[in-house]
Amino acid sequence: MSTVMCGAMSIVLFSVWRSFPAEIGGLREWALGLLFMVAGTVLLTLRGGAVPKPLPVLTMNAVLLWGIGLSMIGTEKFYGQRPSWRLFHGVWLAGMGAMAWWLLVRPDFPARVAVFSAFVTLFYCRQVGLIARHGERQFPTLFFGALMLIQALVVATRGMLALFGGGTSVDLLRPGPFQNVYLAISSFMVLMLVVGFMTVATRRLQTILEQRSTRDPLTQVLNRRGFGDVYARERALMQRERRATSLISIDLDHFKSINDRYGHATGDRVLVHVAEVIGKVLRASDHVARFGGEEFVVLLPDTGMERACSVAERIQDVLRAPRNNGLPAYTASIGIACQLSAEEDLDGILQRADGALYRAKALGRDRIEVAEPATLPSRVALG
Ligand code: GH3
Ligand code: MG
Ligand code: MG
Repeated sequence: MSTVMCGAMSIVLFSVWRSFPAEIGGLREWALGLLFMVAGTVLLTLRGGAVPKPLPVLTMNAVLLWGIGLSMIGTEKFYGQRPSWRLFHGVWLAGMGAMAWWLLVRPDFPARVAVFSAFVTLFYCRQVGLIARHGERQFPTLFFGALMLIQALVVATRGMLALFGGGTSVDLLRPGPFQNVYLAISSFMVLMLVVGFMTVATRRLQTILEQRSTRDPLTQVLNRRGFGDVYARERALMQRERRATSLISIDLDHFKSINDRYGHATGDRVLVHVAEVIGKVLRASDHVARFGGEEFVVLLPDTGMERACSVAERIQDVLRAPRNNGLPAYTASIGIACQLSAEEDLDGILQRADGALYRAKALGRDRIEVAEPATLPSRVALG
Protein backbone atom coordinates (compact mmCIF):
# COMPACT_ATOMS: atom_id res chain seq x y z
CA MET A 1 0.00 0.00 0.00
CA SER A 2 2.77 2.40 0.98
CA THR A 3 4.66 1.45 -2.16
CA VAL A 4 1.66 2.33 -4.32
CA MET A 5 1.32 5.64 -2.48
CA CYS A 6 5.03 6.34 -2.92
CA GLY A 7 4.60 5.67 -6.65
CA ALA A 8 1.72 8.14 -6.74
CA MET A 9 3.78 10.64 -4.78
CA SER A 10 6.59 10.42 -7.30
CA ILE A 11 4.08 11.37 -10.03
CA VAL A 12 3.04 14.32 -7.85
CA LEU A 13 6.70 15.28 -7.41
CA PHE A 14 7.33 15.10 -11.17
CA SER A 15 4.39 17.38 -11.88
CA VAL A 16 5.51 19.75 -9.09
CA TRP A 17 8.99 19.82 -10.64
CA ARG A 18 7.47 20.82 -13.99
CA SER A 19 5.27 23.56 -12.51
CA PHE A 20 7.37 25.13 -9.69
CA PRO A 21 9.82 27.93 -10.58
CA ALA A 22 13.27 26.72 -11.63
CA GLU A 23 14.94 28.43 -8.67
CA ILE A 24 13.46 25.76 -6.37
CA GLY A 25 16.14 23.15 -6.97
CA GLY A 26 16.16 19.46 -6.16
CA LEU A 27 12.57 18.59 -7.11
CA ARG A 28 13.60 16.49 -10.09
CA GLU A 29 16.15 14.53 -8.04
CA TRP A 30 13.59 13.89 -5.30
CA ALA A 31 11.03 12.72 -7.88
CA LEU A 32 13.58 10.40 -9.54
CA GLY A 33 14.89 9.26 -6.16
CA LEU A 34 11.42 8.31 -5.01
CA LEU A 35 10.81 6.44 -8.26
CA PHE A 36 13.99 4.42 -7.67
CA MET A 37 12.99 3.75 -4.06
CA VAL A 38 9.60 2.46 -5.25
CA ALA A 39 11.31 0.28 -7.87
CA GLY A 40 13.69 -1.03 -5.18
CA THR A 41 10.82 -1.93 -2.87
CA VAL A 42 8.99 -3.71 -5.69
CA LEU A 43 12.15 -5.70 -6.44
CA LEU A 44 12.42 -6.58 -2.74
CA THR A 45 8.98 -8.16 -2.77
CA LEU A 46 9.73 -9.98 -6.04
CA ARG A 47 12.96 -11.39 -4.59
CA GLY A 48 11.07 -14.11 -2.60
CA GLY A 49 12.40 -17.54 -1.66
CA ALA A 50 14.66 -18.48 1.22
CA VAL A 51 17.82 -18.47 -0.90
CA PRO A 52 18.58 -14.99 -2.24
CA LYS A 53 19.14 -14.88 -5.96
CA PRO A 54 22.21 -12.70 -6.46
CA LEU A 55 21.10 -10.60 -9.40
CA PRO A 56 17.73 -9.41 -8.06
CA VAL A 57 19.28 -8.76 -4.64
CA LEU A 58 22.12 -6.72 -6.10
CA THR A 59 19.76 -4.83 -8.41
CA MET A 60 17.37 -4.08 -5.55
CA ASN A 61 20.18 -2.72 -3.37
CA ALA A 62 21.65 -0.73 -6.25
CA VAL A 63 18.31 0.85 -7.09
CA LEU A 64 17.45 1.63 -3.47
CA LEU A 65 20.86 3.18 -2.82
CA TRP A 66 20.52 5.23 -6.00
CA GLY A 67 17.11 6.46 -4.95
CA ILE A 68 18.18 7.49 -1.46
CA GLY A 69 21.38 9.05 -2.83
CA LEU A 70 19.39 11.03 -5.39
CA SER A 71 17.14 12.40 -2.65
CA MET A 72 20.35 13.59 -0.91
CA ILE A 73 21.46 15.31 -4.13
CA GLY A 74 17.96 16.84 -4.33
CA THR A 75 18.20 18.20 -0.79
CA GLU A 76 21.66 19.64 -1.57
CA LYS A 77 20.32 21.39 -4.67
CA PHE A 78 17.26 22.59 -2.76
CA TYR A 79 19.52 24.34 -0.23
CA GLY A 80 21.68 25.81 -3.01
CA GLN A 81 24.67 23.56 -2.30
CA ARG A 82 26.89 21.93 -4.91
CA PRO A 83 25.66 18.35 -5.37
CA SER A 84 28.20 15.92 -3.93
CA TRP A 85 28.25 13.50 -6.84
CA ARG A 86 31.58 12.09 -5.67
CA LEU A 87 30.09 11.00 -2.37
CA PHE A 88 27.05 9.67 -4.24
CA HIS A 89 29.09 7.56 -6.69
CA GLY A 90 31.71 6.62 -4.08
CA VAL A 91 29.09 5.30 -1.67
CA TRP A 92 27.23 3.56 -4.44
CA LEU A 93 30.33 1.80 -5.77
CA ALA A 94 31.60 0.87 -2.29
CA GLY A 95 28.12 -0.33 -1.34
CA MET A 96 27.77 -2.48 -4.44
CA GLY A 97 31.29 -3.86 -4.01
CA ALA A 98 30.54 -4.84 -0.41
CA MET A 99 27.18 -6.32 -1.40
CA ALA A 100 28.73 -8.40 -4.16
CA TRP A 101 31.47 -9.61 -1.83
CA TRP A 102 29.11 -10.72 0.95
CA LEU A 103 26.64 -12.14 -1.52
CA LEU A 104 28.81 -13.97 -4.02
CA VAL A 105 32.23 -14.55 -2.45
CA ARG A 106 31.47 -14.94 1.25
CA PRO A 107 27.71 -14.98 1.69
CA ASP A 108 26.97 -13.10 4.91
CA PHE A 109 23.51 -11.60 5.25
CA PRO A 110 24.02 -9.59 8.48
CA ALA A 111 27.19 -8.03 7.05
CA ARG A 112 25.25 -6.95 3.95
CA VAL A 113 22.49 -5.41 6.01
CA ALA A 114 24.99 -3.63 8.27
CA VAL A 115 26.94 -2.14 5.34
CA PHE A 116 23.82 -1.14 3.42
CA SER A 117 22.31 0.48 6.52
CA ALA A 118 25.55 2.34 7.25
CA PHE A 119 25.65 3.88 3.75
CA VAL A 120 21.97 4.79 3.77
CA THR A 121 22.37 6.32 7.25
CA LEU A 122 25.26 8.37 5.84
CA PHE A 123 23.00 9.75 3.08
CA TYR A 124 20.28 10.61 5.58
CA CYS A 125 22.70 12.13 8.10
CA ARG A 126 24.18 14.36 5.39
CA GLN A 127 20.66 15.65 4.75
CA VAL A 128 20.00 16.22 8.47
CA GLY A 129 23.21 18.31 8.52
CA LEU A 130 22.13 20.29 5.43
CA ILE A 131 18.71 21.02 6.89
CA ALA A 132 20.20 22.10 10.23
CA ARG A 133 22.78 24.36 8.56
CA HIS A 134 20.84 25.85 5.66
CA GLY A 135 17.15 25.44 6.53
CA GLU A 136 15.09 28.54 7.19
CA ARG A 137 14.04 28.79 10.84
CA GLN A 138 10.43 27.82 10.17
CA PHE A 139 8.11 24.99 11.10
CA PRO A 140 8.37 23.17 7.71
CA THR A 141 12.15 22.93 8.16
CA LEU A 142 11.77 21.54 11.67
CA PHE A 143 9.23 19.00 10.42
CA PHE A 144 11.40 17.89 7.49
CA GLY A 145 14.55 17.76 9.64
CA ALA A 146 12.85 15.74 12.39
CA LEU A 147 11.51 13.22 9.85
CA MET A 148 14.94 12.86 8.27
CA LEU A 149 16.53 12.31 11.69
CA ILE A 150 13.95 9.65 12.61
CA GLN A 151 14.57 7.88 9.30
CA ALA A 152 18.34 7.96 9.88
CA LEU A 153 17.81 6.46 13.36
CA VAL A 154 15.47 3.73 12.06
CA VAL A 155 17.96 2.64 9.40
CA ALA A 156 20.91 2.86 11.79
CA THR A 157 19.00 0.68 14.28
CA ARG A 158 18.52 -1.98 11.62
CA GLY A 159 22.25 -1.89 10.88
CA MET A 160 23.06 -2.27 14.59
CA LEU A 161 20.64 -5.17 14.95
CA ALA A 162 22.24 -6.88 11.97
CA LEU A 163 25.68 -6.44 13.49
CA PHE A 164 24.84 -7.50 17.02
CA GLY A 165 21.61 -9.46 16.73
CA GLY A 166 22.31 -11.77 13.78
CA GLY A 167 20.66 -12.15 10.42
CA THR A 168 17.19 -13.53 11.03
CA SER A 169 16.03 -10.55 13.09
CA VAL A 170 16.61 -8.16 10.19
CA ASP A 171 15.67 -10.30 7.17
CA LEU A 172 12.76 -8.35 5.85
CA LEU A 173 11.14 -11.28 4.11
CA ARG A 174 10.86 -13.44 7.22
CA PRO A 175 7.97 -12.81 9.57
CA GLY A 176 8.88 -11.32 12.93
CA PRO A 177 8.11 -8.34 15.13
CA PHE A 178 11.12 -6.25 14.07
CA GLN A 179 10.58 -7.01 10.41
CA ASN A 180 6.94 -5.95 10.58
CA VAL A 181 7.65 -2.79 12.51
CA TYR A 182 10.65 -1.95 10.32
CA LEU A 183 8.82 -2.46 7.03
CA ALA A 184 5.84 -0.45 8.26
CA ILE A 185 7.95 2.39 9.66
CA SER A 186 10.42 2.60 6.78
CA SER A 187 7.89 2.71 3.95
CA PHE A 188 5.68 5.05 5.92
CA MET A 189 8.70 7.21 6.68
CA VAL A 190 9.66 7.44 3.00
CA LEU A 191 6.16 8.77 2.35
CA MET A 192 6.47 11.18 5.27
CA LEU A 193 9.87 12.34 4.04
CA VAL A 194 8.36 13.23 0.68
CA VAL A 195 5.57 15.08 2.48
CA GLY A 196 8.25 16.86 4.57
CA PHE A 197 10.18 17.83 1.45
CA MET A 198 6.99 19.04 -0.24
CA THR A 199 6.24 21.16 2.85
CA VAL A 200 9.60 22.97 2.67
CA ALA A 201 9.32 23.29 -1.12
CA THR A 202 5.83 24.79 -0.88
CA ARG A 203 7.01 27.21 1.81
CA ARG A 204 9.87 28.21 -0.51
CA LEU A 205 7.37 28.72 -3.34
CA GLN A 206 5.27 30.97 -1.09
CA THR A 207 8.34 33.08 -0.22
CA ILE A 208 9.31 33.38 -3.91
CA LEU A 209 5.81 34.42 -4.95
CA GLU A 210 5.62 36.93 -2.09
CA GLN A 211 8.97 38.34 -3.17
CA ARG A 212 7.93 38.53 -6.80
CA SER A 213 4.85 40.53 -5.94
CA THR A 214 6.70 42.98 -3.70
CA ARG A 215 10.13 43.27 -5.39
CA ASP A 216 11.31 45.00 -8.53
CA PRO A 217 12.61 42.25 -10.83
CA LEU A 218 15.46 44.36 -12.25
CA THR A 219 17.05 45.74 -9.08
CA GLN A 220 15.57 43.36 -6.48
CA VAL A 221 14.65 46.28 -4.20
CA LEU A 222 11.02 46.76 -3.11
CA ASN A 223 8.46 47.80 -5.70
CA ARG A 224 5.67 50.30 -5.03
CA ARG A 225 3.43 47.62 -3.53
CA GLY A 226 6.15 46.22 -1.26
CA PHE A 227 7.05 49.73 -0.18
CA GLY A 228 3.38 50.40 0.65
CA ASP A 229 3.33 47.35 2.96
CA VAL A 230 6.57 48.36 4.66
CA TYR A 231 5.36 51.93 5.10
CA ALA A 232 2.09 50.72 6.65
CA ARG A 233 4.06 48.69 9.22
CA GLU A 234 6.40 51.57 10.01
CA ARG A 235 3.48 53.97 10.32
CA ALA A 236 1.80 51.70 12.87
CA LEU A 237 5.05 51.67 14.89
CA MET A 238 5.30 55.42 14.52
CA GLN A 239 1.80 55.81 15.92
CA ARG A 240 2.70 53.69 18.95
CA GLU A 241 6.18 54.98 19.64
CA ARG A 242 5.68 58.59 18.52
CA ARG A 243 8.85 58.86 16.51
CA ALA A 244 9.81 60.70 13.34
CA THR A 245 10.19 59.04 9.94
CA SER A 246 11.91 60.45 6.87
CA LEU A 247 11.45 59.75 3.20
CA ILE A 248 13.98 60.45 0.46
CA SER A 249 12.88 60.67 -3.16
CA ILE A 250 15.68 60.18 -5.71
CA ASP A 251 15.46 60.74 -9.48
CA LEU A 252 18.43 60.30 -11.82
CA ASP A 253 19.30 63.33 -13.90
CA HIS A 254 18.93 63.16 -17.68
CA PHE A 255 18.55 59.40 -17.57
CA LYS A 256 16.87 59.43 -20.94
CA SER A 257 20.08 60.66 -22.52
CA ILE A 258 22.05 57.80 -20.85
CA ASN A 259 19.64 55.36 -22.51
CA ASP A 260 19.91 57.22 -25.82
CA ARG A 261 23.68 57.42 -25.77
CA TYR A 262 24.70 54.06 -24.25
CA GLY A 263 21.67 51.89 -24.91
CA HIS A 264 18.87 50.53 -22.76
CA ALA A 265 20.96 47.62 -21.43
CA THR A 266 23.55 50.02 -19.99
CA GLY A 267 20.67 52.08 -18.59
CA ASP A 268 19.46 48.95 -16.82
CA ARG A 269 22.91 48.29 -15.38
CA VAL A 270 22.99 51.86 -14.09
CA LEU A 271 19.66 51.25 -12.33
CA VAL A 272 20.99 48.05 -10.72
CA HIS A 273 24.10 49.91 -9.63
CA VAL A 274 22.06 52.75 -8.12
CA ALA A 275 19.98 50.28 -6.08
CA GLU A 276 23.19 48.58 -4.88
CA VAL A 277 24.98 51.71 -3.76
CA ILE A 278 21.90 53.15 -2.07
CA GLY A 279 21.53 49.87 -0.17
CA LYS A 280 25.13 50.10 1.04
CA VAL A 281 24.59 53.55 2.55
CA LEU A 282 21.50 52.51 4.54
CA ARG A 283 21.01 50.82 7.92
CA ALA A 284 19.43 47.36 8.04
CA SER A 285 16.20 48.92 9.31
CA ASP A 286 15.91 51.37 6.36
CA HIS A 287 14.04 50.46 3.17
CA VAL A 288 14.68 51.24 -0.48
CA ALA A 289 12.22 50.91 -3.35
CA ARG A 290 12.15 51.55 -7.08
CA PHE A 291 9.00 53.38 -8.10
CA GLY A 292 9.28 52.58 -11.80
CA GLY A 293 11.64 54.22 -14.30
CA GLU A 294 14.68 55.82 -12.64
CA GLU A 295 12.97 56.93 -9.45
CA PHE A 296 14.00 55.46 -6.12
CA VAL A 297 12.44 56.07 -2.72
CA VAL A 298 14.10 55.48 0.64
CA LEU A 299 12.24 55.18 3.94
CA LEU A 300 14.22 55.95 7.07
CA PRO A 301 12.26 54.89 10.17
CA ASP A 302 13.04 56.57 13.48
CA THR A 303 14.96 59.31 11.65
CA GLY A 304 14.63 63.07 11.84
CA MET A 305 15.58 65.62 9.19
CA GLU A 306 19.21 65.89 10.30
CA ARG A 307 20.13 62.24 9.67
CA ALA A 308 17.94 62.13 6.55
CA CYS A 309 20.00 64.99 5.08
CA SER A 310 23.29 63.29 5.87
CA VAL A 311 22.03 60.00 4.34
CA ALA A 312 20.94 61.90 1.20
CA GLU A 313 24.39 63.54 0.97
CA ARG A 314 26.09 60.16 1.33
CA ILE A 315 23.86 58.73 -1.42
CA GLN A 316 24.76 61.63 -3.68
CA ASP A 317 28.46 61.19 -2.91
CA VAL A 318 28.49 57.47 -3.73
CA LEU A 319 26.50 58.02 -6.94
CA ARG A 320 28.99 60.66 -8.02
CA ALA A 321 32.07 58.69 -6.94
CA PRO A 322 34.33 57.50 -9.78
CA ARG A 323 33.94 53.78 -10.50
CA ASN A 324 35.67 51.27 -12.69
CA ASN A 325 32.72 49.15 -13.72
CA GLY A 326 32.40 50.68 -17.18
CA LEU A 327 29.19 52.57 -16.36
CA PRO A 328 28.77 56.18 -17.48
CA ALA A 329 28.90 58.98 -14.91
CA TYR A 330 25.55 60.24 -13.70
CA THR A 331 24.04 62.38 -10.97
CA ALA A 332 20.76 62.42 -9.07
CA SER A 333 18.38 65.01 -7.69
CA ILE A 334 16.97 64.37 -4.25
CA GLY A 335 13.95 65.56 -2.27
CA ILE A 336 13.56 64.88 1.46
CA ALA A 337 10.44 65.01 3.61
CA CYS A 338 10.24 64.32 7.33
CA GLN A 339 7.05 63.01 8.87
CA LEU A 340 6.44 63.93 12.50
CA SER A 341 2.92 62.62 12.87
CA ALA A 342 1.27 59.32 12.00
CA GLU A 343 -1.72 61.34 10.79
CA GLU A 344 0.00 61.97 7.49
CA ASP A 345 -0.24 59.04 5.05
CA LEU A 346 2.07 57.69 2.36
CA ASP A 347 0.55 59.85 -0.37
CA GLY A 348 1.07 62.93 1.78
CA ILE A 349 4.73 62.40 2.57
CA LEU A 350 5.45 61.24 -1.00
CA GLN A 351 3.86 64.35 -2.39
CA ARG A 352 6.00 66.57 -0.16
CA ALA A 353 9.21 64.68 -1.01
CA ASP A 354 8.37 64.82 -4.74
CA GLY A 355 7.67 68.54 -4.43
CA ALA A 356 11.16 69.02 -2.99
CA LEU A 357 12.59 66.81 -5.74
CA TYR A 358 10.96 68.87 -8.51
CA ARG A 359 12.43 71.96 -6.88
CA ALA A 360 15.88 70.31 -6.98
CA LYS A 361 15.35 69.61 -10.70
CA ALA A 362 14.17 73.15 -11.36
CA LEU A 363 17.14 74.61 -9.50
CA GLY A 364 19.61 72.88 -11.79
CA ARG A 365 19.62 69.14 -10.75
CA ASP A 366 22.36 67.20 -8.86
CA ARG A 367 21.22 68.76 -5.57
CA ILE A 368 19.18 68.08 -2.44
CA GLU A 369 16.04 69.98 -1.43
CA VAL A 370 14.07 69.65 1.78
CA ALA A 371 10.25 69.74 1.99
CA GLU A 372 8.34 71.99 4.38
CA PRO A 373 6.76 70.13 7.34
CA ALA A 374 3.25 68.84 6.72
CA THR A 375 0.38 71.11 7.66
CA LEU A 376 -2.13 68.86 9.34
CA PRO A 377 -5.31 69.98 11.08
CA SER A 378 -4.44 68.59 14.53
CA ARG A 379 -0.77 67.93 14.36
CA VAL A 380 0.85 66.12 17.23
CA ALA A 381 4.50 67.01 17.34
CA LEU A 382 6.83 64.10 17.86
CA GLY A 383 10.40 64.04 19.14
P1 GH3 B 1 15.31 64.41 -15.57
O1 GH3 B 1 16.67 64.87 -15.24
O2 GH3 B 1 14.34 65.53 -15.78
O3 GH3 B 1 14.79 63.42 -14.59
O4 GH3 B 1 15.41 63.70 -16.97
P2 GH3 B 1 15.24 62.18 -17.28
O5 GH3 B 1 15.70 61.96 -18.68
O6 GH3 B 1 15.92 61.38 -16.23
O7 GH3 B 1 13.68 61.98 -17.05
P3 GH3 B 1 12.56 61.27 -17.85
O8 GH3 B 1 11.48 60.94 -16.84
O9 GH3 B 1 12.15 62.11 -19.01
O10 GH3 B 1 13.18 59.94 -18.39
C1 GH3 B 1 13.19 58.78 -17.70
C2 GH3 B 1 13.68 57.72 -18.62
O11 GH3 B 1 13.86 56.49 -17.95
C3 GH3 B 1 12.72 57.44 -19.76
C4 GH3 B 1 12.78 55.94 -19.95
O12 GH3 B 1 13.26 55.62 -21.23
C5 GH3 B 1 13.78 55.49 -18.93
N1 GH3 B 1 13.41 54.25 -18.26
C6 GH3 B 1 12.29 53.97 -17.59
N2 GH3 B 1 12.32 52.71 -17.11
C7 GH3 B 1 13.48 52.18 -17.52
C8 GH3 B 1 14.11 50.90 -17.37
O13 GH3 B 1 13.59 49.97 -16.73
N3 GH3 B 1 15.32 50.72 -17.92
C9 GH3 B 1 15.94 51.71 -18.62
N4 GH3 B 1 17.14 51.46 -19.14
N5 GH3 B 1 15.38 52.91 -18.81
C10 GH3 B 1 14.17 53.15 -18.26
MG1 MG C 1 15.20 61.51 -14.26
MG1 MG D 1 11.84 60.34 -13.61
